[in-house]
Amino acid sequence: MTDFLLQIWYGLIGLSIPTAIVYTLVTTHITIVSVTVYLHRHAAHRALELHPALANFFRTWLWIMTGMRTQEWVAIHRKHHALCETPEDPHSPKVVGLSEILFRGVEHYRVGITPETLDRYGKGTPDDWMERHLFSRTTAGFYGLLAVNVLLFGAVGVAVWAIQMLWIPFFAAGVINGIGHAIGYRNFEIPDAATNIVPWGILIGGEELHNNHHTYPNSAKLSVKPWEFDAGWAWIKLFSVFGLAKPLSVGPVVERVEGKTTIDMDTVWGVLNDRFRVMSDYAENVVKPLAEAEMAKADRARRGAIKRAKALLCREDKWVGERERDDIRAITESSPALATIYEKRLELTALWARRGGSGDELLRAFKSWCTEAEESGINVLRDFVSHLKSYTVPLSAQRA
Ligand SMILES: [Zn+2]
Ligand SMILES: [Zn+2]
Repeated sequence: MTDFLLQIWYGLIGLSIPTAIVYTLVTTHITIVSVTVYLHRHAAHRALELHPALANFFRTWLWIMTGMRTQEWVAIHRKHHALCETPEDPHSPKVVGLSEILFRGVEHYRVGITPETLDRYGKGTPDDWMERHLFSRTTAGFYGLLAVNVLLFGAVGVAVWAIQMLWIPFFAAGVINGIGHAIGYRNFEIPDAATNIVPWGILIGGEELHNNHHTYPNSAKLSVKPWEFDAGWAWIKLFSVFGLAKPLSVGPVVERVEGKTTIDMDTVWGVLNDRFRVMSDYAENVVKPLAEAEMAKADRARRGAIKRAKALLCREDKWVGERERDDIRAITESSPALATIYEKRLELTALWARRGGSGDELLRAFKSWCTEAEESGINVLRDFVSHLKSYTVPLSAQRA
């Protein structure tokens, strides 16, 4: 009897605690890859194709490790993108508070699964025999995993199981959906509040780069800067080598031709397609150098205000608070050059809103923005116009 109890305590196979740690890290990483590559980039956004064998492996793994169903996850996620930071967003920390999403993200996820949401946002997801008879009917996967863990590690296996079960609710439903819309840096000033949590997307498979993802939701690759790393993309590249994955999109359809000096409709579409990067370049190549030049000649009283110019003058208007608006006023009143580039930034942003209208009007408005910017007498602004003129739409996309 004692031997039997000891065997239960240590497990029939009785692997060591270091082995249990490695096993936990490997299995949770596979779960993260299943979420980011299969559920998110493939099923929800159609950013890549996956070989059916690999897609089915991920689906089964997710059933065992999380109990999540593809259609439910996809529907909630697409609704999040469609209604981001509004009361109908299934999980916006801007609406319900950060701690609410961080610690009760799973509840928000579950409450959001309604027949209407599944019907409207869950289209094109698997609805085969496995889905209907296995994944949506039983939770045997959970308990099968617990049994395997106990067999391998005994009582420690129960703790491993608890970590495996909590991994996605904490990191995906909590950290990404919460912190990824509240804390971090922004490469792109997009209308929603998405942030990049850290530049190295390893622990959560690249999902950490949430600002990049909300900017280019259909891109299979989530890193955009040379210093950013997207582990999910590394896996996709590896799967591609074996013919198991095929990325369909990695960013906006755009091309740049150095030395091009004309502005035509293709220039406008190229700039529009790449508008978030264009605004990011505007912050880096127009606002930043000009703010630095103003800083150098400012007296001590003005320096405090100008110091924050790059961040404030480029911030998405929706996320500018009352105090920050006062700071912007102080900056622009103290420097005519900074006032001009702030005004030009707002005008350029307003141009994107006209993209649904007539092409001729858009072209005229874009040309007049460029002419005024060139005649402003601000060198960095004139250089920026030359940069914009180099934009076009690739020939392959024009033919399509
Ligand atoms: Zn998001
Ligand atoms: Zn997404």
